[in-house]
Amino acid sequence: MKFKYTDFHLHSSWSDDIVDVGPSFEDYLSIAEENEINICFLEHYEIYQVESFEDHPFSVNSVEDYLEELDKIKENYDFVLSGLEVDYYHHKADQIREFMDDYEKQLDFVAGSMHEPILDYPITQRDKLYQLMENWTITQIVDEFFTHSEHMIKSQIFKNICHIDTIFRYINKLDIKPPPECDCSDERILELGKLCIKNKIGIEYNLSGVKFPIGRSFPSKDVIMQLKKEGARIFVGSDSHFVPYFQEQIKNVKDAYKLLESV
Ligand SMILES: [Zn+2]
Ligand SMILES: [Zn+2]
Repeated sequence: MKFKYTDFHLHSSWSDDIVDVGPSFEDYLSIAEENEINICFLEHYEIYQVESFEDHPFSVNSVEDYLEELDKIKENYDFVLSGLEVDYYHHKADQIREFMDDYEKQLDFVAGSMHEPILDYPITQRDKLYQLMENWTITQIVDEFFTHSEHMIKSQIFKNICHIDTIFRYINKLDIKPPPECDCSDERILELGKLCIKNKIGIEYNLSGVKFPIGRSFPSKDVIMQLKKEGARIFVGSDSHFVPYFQEQIKNVKDAYKLLESV
């Protein structure tokens, strides 16, 4: 790669949450080049959503189309990586494994994610979380997240995993308050991280939490530093969905790498 540091987590209009309003690949290029940072497009690929919705970007176009569009860019810009953020669904593990067999070699970087521990209710969407809370307790939702994350790690389908504690984006004491019996401890997150280390899975230091009331990364600085000391392989992602946000975060991404190097 051309530059020293890489932001491994950018989204463009290939991601279904910003399909109509998101930036193109090209929109990111000049900012990345000026600021000397490699960029990896890590678009959402949620196999269940792709199958369920005809208007999902990866239903309308194929992964081959995505790779072709990115390959053209990569010919001229040697600081761009092709990636996917692939959702894990326990009941679709075999299918996801097949998907990875088909595409992993053609992509520069793939990371697994847990957004939907309970089908149809992504815990990274506030309205869906509230709908879920009509039938589930907060403790049950958090437990489901950790259980399914463990399944994902132990499946060893992915060599990298994004934002291991993103369940706390909205569930935390500054936002949707968890009850005292709900285990939201650093120890619980550390255990998940240690499970990644044991399975040789890279862990994301996802900086996006600063946008939310929780105001911290996923996982927190303390937890990521602890995991680094335990021998974790760590990659840094801004999880940018828009160019101005990416631009703002470049310094933070570089600082995060420098902090990790200091361990
Ligand atoms: Zn994500
Ligand atoms: Zn993302």
